[in-house]
Amino acid sequence: MTSMTASHASDLVAALLFILSLAGLSQHHTSRAGVAYGIAGMALALAATVVVAAQDTSARVVALIVLAMALGAVIGLWRARRVEMTQMPELIAVLHSFVGLAAVLVGWNTYLEVESHGTAQTRIGADLLAIHHAEVFIGIFIGAVTFTGSIVAFLKLSARINSRPLMLPGKNALNLGALGAFVALTIWFTISPNLPLMITVTVLALALGWHLVASIGGGDMPVVVSMLNSYSGWAAAAAGFLLDNNLLIVTGALVGSSGAYLSYIMCKAMNRSFISVIAGGFGIEAPAGREEEQGEYREVRAAEAAETLAQARSVIITPGYGMAVAQAQHPVAELTRQLRERGIEVRFGVHPVAGRLPGHMNVLLAEAKVPYDIVLEMDEINDDFADTSVVLVIGANDTVNPAATEDPGSPIAGMPVVRVWEAEQVIVFKRSMASGYAGVQNPLFFRENSSMLFGDAKQSVEEILHALSTDGRHEATPAARQAVAG
Ligand code: NDP
Repeated sequence: MTSMTASHASDLVAALLFILSLAGLSQHHTSRAGVAYGIAGMALALAATVVVAAQDTSARVVALIVLAMALGAVIGLWRARRVEMTQMPELIAVLHSFVGLAAVLVGWNTYLEVESHGTAQTRIGADLLAIHHAEVFIGIFIGAVTFTGSIVAFLKLSARINSRPLMLPGKNALNLGALGAFVALTIWFTISPNLPLMITVTVLALALGWHLVASIGGGDMPVVVSMLNSYSGWAAAAAGFLLDNNLLIVTGALVGSSGAYLSYIMCKAMNRSFISVIAGGFGIEAPAGREEEQGEYREVRAAEAAETLAQARSVIITPGYGMAVAQAQHPVAELTRQLRERGIEVRFGVHPVAGRLPGHMNVLLAEAKVPYDIVLEMDEINDDFADTSVVLVIGANDTVNPAATEDPGSPIAGMPVVRVWEAEQVIVFKRSMASGYAGVQNPLFFRENSSMLFGDAKQSVEEILHALSTDGRHEATPAARQAVAG
């Protein structure tokens, strides 16, 4: 077998492993195998790259490649070990920005090294030259949009800039204008490639990427993260065409299309328009910006909350980002165990985008060994709140905001939410009256059946556990509970 055939064969096997990886990741019980297939595919792809490079280039270049890989591996391992679960989306955003930047650099390198030395014509052939020019231009455009878009996503997710949407006047016209200009510039570049056009398309795409993501509000950030994942795939595929690397083309297309499909599913689940989100909030007007007077809120202490819980018939716990920040899952699991021991029905209602990445809450609850069968999805539990004694909202805010269903002018209008307010009593665990990630005030806190338990969620739950363990009066019998409920 020649080295070229061997390299094609390894590309094919790696591509199949990536497809198996995506298939594995689509289901909970096969996800570990999915990750293993992905690692195997990437290891094979990297090894094949070094072997092929060793045959085509000097030992110095191979040494540089190996050095770059080793450096990348060390930095990657160091970051992966240190990153908190709550920081995962921002880490993913940074990684997407690297893919975008790599695609821009590959495009520029191809132009400067190949085009300007006039070797392109001999290598590629005159008839394919226009296609090659278009590849350079499109690769740079997608890469630059991904690069700055991911940086803005990183800044928003890590709270370094405000998560509110940027509302420049005529923002849709700006986006459409940039796209139109890109098409015109691409045609011009294929006819007469030159440096000023390269600079123009790079600057245009960098600005467009920044504006697209800056225009999207906090509540839609989960979709933006998966959309940038898709863009980074297309950027990698474009780089694959320029580098003549089939595996990069296949892998980029897999990431691009699976990311696009995930964005579509998430948009459907959150009742958002797919086109609107990928077009930088197209069609969404600036929220009215009114801060309505919400009225008074009530405050409870942990001991009172313990008393209310001890007398409850059924409890639903709705966790959110604050539970992850406080790392309150272990005391929450212990509270669940103790309440169930007292014969109280306890279940969890989990919103699909609670926390900072899909499935965030499920992972935390599984880690704390909360039984799977009492952890329900929002749609499975939403009709049961009206028949529930107490809801504990632990560090959730946007995902339990009634304004999403009741106020058409709200920036999160139309987003499905967990209908906690339908229960008899709601206790909200948070540290202050601050708004959630989307930056919207929450009328739930001011409802008559709601009360606020201020403080760090972990500490508050521990105080409730303490109150339950020290006060024998809370050992309500099922008969007593029935009397309270009735
Ligand atoms: P939110 O971000 O809406 O609210 C979390 C609440 O937790 C805050 O109001 C905060 O209030 C409270 N909190 C923070 N730290 C603590 C603590 N130590 N103890 C107690 N409370 C605490 O969270 P949700 O989970 O309800 O909603 C998720 C939001 O994030 C949505 O807007 C979603 O669109 C967005 N998002 C989701 C992603 C995903 O994929 N799941 C990705 C990116 C964004 P206070 O400061 O007063 O304590």
